[in-house]
Amino acid sequence: MNYQSTRNAELKASSTAAVLKGLAQDGGLFVTRAYEGFDWQGTLKLDTFGMAEKILGTLLPDFEDMHALVQRAYTGKFETDELTPVVPVGERYVLELFRGPTSAFKDVALSMLPQLITAARRQEGVSDEILILTATSGDTGKAALAGFCDVPGTKIIVFYPDAGVSAVQKAQMVTQEGSNVCVCAVRGNFDDTQTGVKQIFSKGLPEGCGVRLSSANSINIGRLAPQVVYYFKAYADLLKQGRISLGDKVDYVVPTGNFGDILAGYLAKRMGLPVGKLVCASNRNDVLTDFLKTGTYDRRRPFYKTISPSMDILVSSNLERLLYLLCENEAEVAGYMKQLSEVGAYTVSSEMLEKLHAEFGWGCCDDEKTKQTIGKVWREHGYLMDTHTAVAWNVAEGYESDAPVVVLSTASPYKFPAAVLSAIGGDTDGDEFTIMERLHELTKVPVPQGLATLRRKQVRHTDVIDREEMQQYVLNKASAWKEA
Ligand SMILES: *Cc1c(COP(=O)(O)O)cnc(C)c1O
Repeated sequence: MNYQSTRNAELKASSTAAVLKGLAQDGGLFVTRAYEGFDWQGTLKLDTFGMAEKILGTLLPDFEDMHALVQRAYTGKFETDELTPVVPVGERYVLELFRGPTSAFKDVALSMLPQLITAARRQEGVSDEILILTATSGDTGKAALAGFCDVPGTKIIVFYPDAGVSAVQKAQMVTQEGSNVCVCAVRGNFDDTQTGVKQIFSKGLPEGCGVRLSSANSINIGRLAPQVVYYFKAYADLLKQGRISLGDKVDYVVPTGNFGDILAGYLAKRMGLPVGKLVCASNRNDVLTDFLKTGTYDRRRPFYKTISPSMDILVSSNLERLLYLLCENEAEVAGYMKQLSEVGAYTVSSEMLEKLHAEFGWGCCDDEKTKQTIGKVWREHGYLMDTHTAVAWNVAEGYESDAPVVVLSTASPYKFPAAVLSAIGGDTDGDEFTIMERLHELTKVPVPQGLATLRRKQVRHTDVIDREEMQQYVLNKASAWKEA
C-alpha cells in the first residue's frame, strides 16, 4: 500500500486502486513516497520509452507489465518517438509537449491513462466496464476521447458547454470516431457542465448498470505520473547536446492552471533530478501568483476569460498535493482544505511559505502582453508559440536566473489560431478554419495533421441537453451500451 490520502494517513491504497478510484474517500488526493532512493542518473541514460517505464514503474509499483503498457500507450501516436522534443529558442529552450494526437500537452498523460486504468481494472478484478465521465472547457475532452477511443473495457462520455469552447475545439470533439465514445453539449457555461458532472459522481450510478465511474482529471495520480517523464527527458536532451553537465541545475517555467503539470516537475525534483526553480506562470487569473508570493490562497476574486483558456481557473486541485509533500502533515492539509471550502481562503504557515519560496518562482501576464510576446518571439526568433506558452515565455523574461531555462509549451499555435494570428499582425476575418489556413500561409509552420483534416471530417455527435438532464443521459447511454 504505497498510497495514502493527503488528509488522512489511515486511508491507504495500492497504486492500482489509487488509479481506479481517482480521489480518496475523504476527498483528499492520493500521494506516495515510492520515489525515495530513485536512480535518477541511470534514468537519464535511457530513451524516452525506457524513461517512462522506469519512472512509472517506480511511482506506480503495483502495475505488472509497465513495459507493455508504455509501448501500447505511445507507439506510433506522436509525431516523434521522442514524444516531447526540446527546441532552442534564443537563450532559452522550449519543451514541446504538443506533438501528440490532439496537439495539446494533455496527450502525454491521456495516452497513458487508459492503459493504466484497464490494467488496474484487470488486476483489481473489477468486472464492470469503466466509464470515464469528463467535463471539458476544450483540451481535456478531445485528448481523453483520443486516448480512450476503442480501448477495451472502457467507455467515455465527454460533456462540453455549448457556448464555451472554440470552433476548432468543438470540431475536434464532435468528429471523434470510436464505438465506445460519446460527446454531448450542455446548455450553459463550463461551470454548469462541471457542476453537473460532479453531481453525477457524488450520487454515483445504480448497482447493476454495468459500468463503474472513473475520472480522467489530473486529480488522478495515473494522469500525473506520466508527466514526470518529460522533465527528465528535457534534462537528458540538454546533457546530450552538451548544453549542461550532469548535476547542473535547470529552471523550468510552466504555464499553470490546475497545478498538475508543475507538480509533476516537483515530483521529478523529489526523485533527484537537478531542478533549480519551478516557475509558476499564470494569466490574468493570478490566484497562484498571489499565493506563492504571500502564502494566502484566496479564490474570492473575479474570474476572467482570457486567450489562454486552459489556465482560466481559480481552484487548482493539485496544489493540495504540493502542500502535503511540503509538510507531510495530514491534519495541516485537511485544515487548509476545510478553510478553502468554508471561507474560500487559507494562509499557510511561515515554515511552509519559506519552503515554497525556496522551490518556486512565480509571475503572471495579461492578454495584451501575451500577444506582444507571441509577436516578439516570432519576429526575433522565427518561432511561433501558442497563447499558453507565451504566458510562460513572458514570465521567463521577467525572471532572473543564472541557470538554463526550459519553457514548457503546452499547445500547438494552431489550437488558438485567431489569437496567434492577430498577435503576429495577420487579418483575423473569417471563421477559425480560414484563420488557421491564413496563419499557415503567413508563417509556413506546418499544421498538425489532426487539425489540418478537421474541416472535412464527418460530424458524429450532435446531442445538446440541459444540465438537469445529464444524469439521465448517462444512465440511458449505460443501458444502451449494456444491451449492445
Ligand atoms: C491544461 C492546460 C494547461 C494547464 O495545465 P495544468 O496541469 O492544469 O496546470 C496549460 N496549457 C494548456 C494548453 C492546457 O491544455
